[in-house]
Amino acid sequence: MMMTTTACLISPETHHLPVLDHGFVELVDVLGSDLTVVNSARVSFGKRKTELDEQDEKLIRYLAKHQHWSPFRHVQLQFHCKVPEFVARQWYKHVVGIAYSEGGAMCVDHAWNEISLRYVDASEFHFYTPEGFRSQSPSNKQASTDAIVENDFSLQAAYKQHAADTFTLYQQLVNNGVAKEQARGVLPLSIYTEFYWTVSLQALANFIKLRTHEGAQYEIRCYADALEKLTQTVVPVSYKYLINTEAGA
Ligand SMILES: Cc1cc2nc3c(=O)[nH]c(=O)nc-3n(C[C@H](O)[C@H](O)[C@H](O)COP(=O)(O)OP(=O)(O)OC[C@H]3O[C@@H](n4cnc5c(N)ncnc54)[C@H](O)[C@@H]3O)c2cc1C
Repeated sequence: MMMTTTACLISPETHHLPVLDHGFVELVDVLGSDLTVVNSARVSFGKRKTELDEQDEKLIRYLAKHQHWSPFRHVQLQFHCKVPEFVARQWYKHVVGIAYSEGGAMCVDHAWNEISLRYVDASEFHFYTPEGFRSQSPSNKQASTDAIVENDFSLQAAYKQHAADTFTLYQQLVNNGVAKEQARGVLPLSIYTEFYWTVSLQALANFIKLRTHEGAQYEIRCYADALEKLTQTVVPVSYKYLINTEAGA
């Protein structure tokens, strides 16, 4: 059976997924396909394929099983993401990407560009309101349970009022001439931020593996699920074996 490759059209209509109450993940661009992984590996033998076939799927499976990761790094995906600030802080811990030197010291960074509250007035920004407040896990200091706390309704109202009050104070500071870079200090962690994130398929699979795990916070799991769905549309074979080394084994 011949398999076609992923010369797929990417557009906001087909590759934009809403997440939480005001967030989203959009796949903006892709460099490469399943065939890119295959051809990156086959260059060792001076070979190049134009269509993906069953032998190529076996090769991808072999590469994942034996941790030959470099062919997977030739595929790069660019996402536009809108996420609550506290989710962005967790996301930003995933740092593998481009190595560059700055001031003589080697740094490791990924391709990440974010909206700046030094430039942009945050008065009209959204903030995230959970559908319900989960209770603190009794056994895991970091985690929550699925149980919704008592008085959820009145706590939700207080939460929303607090966020609204911080925006009012922010506006008061800005209207009185305070620089936006300082006024932002009063905004809540629930405020949404936006960034472009470009990541190799290997690093993306690592992110999804860690952040779809039940130990990860619910909100970032929602984003990891969206990333997974979008990735599967462009590199289905490579992603299948990369995400699940047991499938490759
Ligand atoms: C459930 C959960 C809870 C967490 N809690 C906290 C917390 O409380 N506090 C906190 O600060 N962080 C926390 N983290 C973040 C965590 O510590 C990692 O920083 C984050 O998950 C990024 O993972 P990573 O290093 O695999 O990703 P990346 O930085 O993208 O790295 C990808 C892979 O590259 C390799 N790699 C990266 N850097 C190097 C290096 N310098 N040398 C050699 N190999 C390298 C590793 O194999 C790594 O897995 C948490 C993460 C999860 C999933």
